[in-house]
Amino acid sequence: MSVQKVLDLIKENNIEWVDFRFVDLSGRGHHISLPATEVEEETFENGVAFDGSSIQGFRGIEESDMVMMPDTETAYIDPFTAHATLIIMCNIHTPDGDRYERDPRSIAQKAEEYMQTTGVGTAAFFAPESEFFIFDDVRYESTTNTSSFSVDSEEANWNTGRKEEGGNLGFKVRQKGGYVPVAPVDTQQDIRSEMCRLMAEAGMRIERHHHEVATAGQAEINFRFDTLTKTADNLMKYKYIVHNVARQYGKTATFMPKPLFGDNGSGMHVHQSIFNGDEPLFYEKGGYANLSETALHYIGGILYHAPALIALTNPSTNSFKRLVPGYEAPVNLVFSKGNRSAAVRIPVAAVTPKGCRIEFRTPDSTANPYLAFAAMLMAGLDGIKKKINPTELGYGPYDKNIYDLSDEDKKEIRSVPGSLDEALDALEADFDFLVEGGVFTKDFIDNFIDLKRGEAKAVAIRIHPYEYGLYYDC
Ligand code: GLU
Ligand code: MG
Ligand code: MG
Repeated sequence: MSVQKVLDLIKENNIEWVDFRFVDLSGRGHHISLPATEVEEETFENGVAFDGSSIQGFRGIEESDMVMMPDTETAYIDPFTAHATLIIMCNIHTPDGDRYERDPRSIAQKAEEYMQTTGVGTAAFFAPESEFFIFDDVRYESTTNTSSFSVDSEEANWNTGRKEEGGNLGFKVRQKGGYVPVAPVDTQQDIRSEMCRLMAEAGMRIERHHHEVATAGQAEINFRFDTLTKTADNLMKYKYIVHNVARQYGKTATFMPKPLFGDNGSGMHVHQSIFNGDEPLFYEKGGYANLSETALHYIGGILYHAPALIALTNPSTNSFKRLVPGYEAPVNLVFSKGNRSAAVRIPVAAVTPKGCRIEFRTPDSTANPYLAFAAMLMAGLDGIKKKINPTELGYGPYDKNIYDLSDEDKKEIRSVPGSLDEALDALEADFDFLVEGGVFTKDFIDNFIDLKRGEAKAVAIRIHPYEYGLYYDC
């Protein structure tokens, strides 16, 4: 969309405010609004200034001036404001006009540019399945009883800090019993539909929505794949709309990977493929799961670099409470066409050559999508460049239930890191594939590791309530 088109859009829709947004290291959105009357052609040339020192992980106070440079392609009307507002996503530049090396959106664009230089293909496509929970918001008096929160274990109640009131002695949804039941068991149909309506109005193509496996209001909405940065932009829109529709219903949504002990967590499986023009590069009839050699090498790169990659795709202490056996979250660094405990799955049902793709299942939505998608692409491209053969390195394919394998066979299988600190150790030791072509910088990685070590430490030094049960009466 040209600048002139955006200015026309502002006029035609009586826009009062233009809301310029950027994304921080953790993937949270930030915004500054300008009266529409102040927005003119120069605003798009000169950008909008802000104080980078007040954003965690950005610049020090001594060189704090930063500039948001709007990307007019991203403009959409805010569905939530009383005053007509146009949202525009921005890149972050330094006052000298360079792309800021810690700006996640610039890193995502650099990864796409880097792929062009490798000659592997012309476009990499991404599609995330970002799961989330909708809970009652204790800040609101609920007037409509739309929550499907009904758990049958004291432990899960304890985990959410809520106690179920009243004497429901009848039917209750069991833990892990939430997968696609119709109403009245599924009480969140309308909330999800409303989220989808607003996403579509904001320009996203919605494919479906459903209740997920966890008991307590777990949801998933799927939207159509697109290129890397566009998909990350869409995910920002997705989260913004999910959080705010939940709020309109007096609820709260969370993308935290494991909010409830003993029930399924929320993942963000990421489907990926590469095309050269119109030609899908991941398909070859007759191979394992109809995968081409390029696809196998891409998988090789993802699995080989997975321990380091996971620091960017699962960057929270809570992420590792999800990556445990028994809840459809992956724990094994293997690939498979069916197995949901494999880190890489190849969907085979109803897949056409163009739809042929790989699904990396470890990520969760605490990942900054720009960084996570860029890092996955870099790992896959490294696999293609170095012809990393996943089978030779012992990553499968494993189509049997891994829990049924003999102990000897199981020993061969590598696991995902067990904690954020372990993943950060892996990233410290293996980051060359990320700095290739200047996509990520060493400074970025050091800074990211520092920030995340800080979070891991802050959690570790706090006294956990469960410790009272274990140790109080010793
Ligand atoms: N919620 C599961 C996870 O944590 C995934 C369930 C599914 O396969 O959709 O990854
Ligand atoms: Mg799912
Ligand atoms: Mg999936």
